[in-house]
Amino acid sequence: MNEYDSNRILDLVKPMGYVVTDNSLDADCYVLNTCHIREKATDKVYHDIGRLKKVFRNKKKPMLLVTGCVAQAENEEMLNREKYIDGVVGPQSYYQIPGIIKNIENNKNKVNCTEFEAIEKFDSLNLVRNTNSKVSSFLTIQEGCDKFCHFCVVPYTRGPEHSRSLDEIIIEAKQLIDNGSKEITLLGQNVNAYEYKNKAGIKFRLADLIIKLNELKDLKRIRYTTSHPNDVTEDLIAAHRSCEKLMPILHLPVQSGSSKILNTMNRKHNILKYHKIVNDLRIAKPDIKFSSDFIIGYPGETEDDFNQTINLIEKVQFINSYSFVYSSRPGTPASKLDNVNQEIAKKRLIKLQTVLEKNNSNYKEGFIDKSTEVLFENKLDKQNKYFGRDKFLNAVIVQSSKDLTGKILDIKINAFNHNGLFGTILSNEKRNFAA
Ligand code: SF4
Repeated sequence: MNEYDSNRILDLVKPMGYVVTDNSLDADCYVLNTCHIREKATDKVYHDIGRLKKVFRNKKKPMLLVTGCVAQAENEEMLNREKYIDGVVGPQSYYQIPGIIKNIENNKNKVNCTEFEAIEKFDSLNLVRNTNSKVSSFLTIQEGCDKFCHFCVVPYTRGPEHSRSLDEIIIEAKQLIDNGSKEITLLGQNVNAYEYKNKAGIKFRLADLIIKLNELKDLKRIRYTTSHPNDVTEDLIAAHRSCEKLMPILHLPVQSGSSKILNTMNRKHNILKYHKIVNDLRIAKPDIKFSSDFIIGYPGETEDDFNQTINLIEKVQFINSYSFVYSSRPGTPASKLDNVNQEIAKKRLIKLQTVLEKNNSNYKEGFIDKSTEVLFENKLDKQNKYFGRDKFLNAVIVQSSKDLTGKILDIKINAFNHNGLFGTILSNEKRNFAA
């Protein structure tokens, strides 16, 4: 989501004459767009600012804006602690950046802009064309969270759930397609909680949006992330069956394989329900694969709870999951609970990652000498190699003297490693034929 937000910030400041520079020494305005999910996120921001101060020691100071969830969580405190910062701007307020920049330029005042105004934000952003021209683009359709898992800061930094207008999303999707996008990933903290009611009172859910996007001729692939198990509805499962452009992989965070721990986490789903969702989706889309997130060593996790997580992994055979030892976030309910012994938690994480890695390796081995359909996104730096992704989000690299960017090709896989698959081109670009 931060990548999407950064691109939209650029769209907002382009009319002011700003362009992106890869050389930070050239920057007149420096935007540090931050994420609060990982541990020590705030320390990292101050570390980055320290680095910036060194770089600009004998030069004119650039304007420095800290945006995103760390800015939201720390707000005034950041301005007090680090005088180098000119403004803190929350994720729901970045649409105001052009005015904030002008204000700082004219009045030299520090700015704290951290309100929760998702409706105003999207009303303003809808007026600014999305100029992102990547083959694979992100499109935010929903923000915020009402779930309040006990370990998570998102409801406090991104605010309550808000869904954008369906028509505005379609307009932005068409802009991205006109710019050259072949694949769109719909984004939201709870993307499948998407629900928009139009002026006539008609409700649209994520499945309705996917069905409409599926009809856009030059769009080839649709994905969505991140989902909550409680919002996987019948119509969404049916969309996986009926929409051929909806890719057969779902990132469905489970966090733990123990219903007892899920209850302590306030996840509002249990393992029986999770298995039912996986089974229903497999019936609707037999080749579908799953990836997930795991928190290991959550307060109260016993060896038995941990073994239930391993059992779940073996049963579902997740590909490409994320796993971390639990670390507490200030202000969350879980931060008041006693931590599991860290040595034990680390050992559990290593065991879990070994199982995930083994499953992933077996899965990738199954591709050898087989063909997979790849959408190529870009050329690798200074090499005649192209990077793309297959339907299951596997990274695929092939050698080619011809430009493959934006092409969808069948690739025969010859090798794999931890990072992805390597292959050779089998087919020419897909063409439609009607008789
Ligand atoms: S559903 Fe996701 S974003 Fe919301 S509180 Fe839980 S982990 Fe955080």
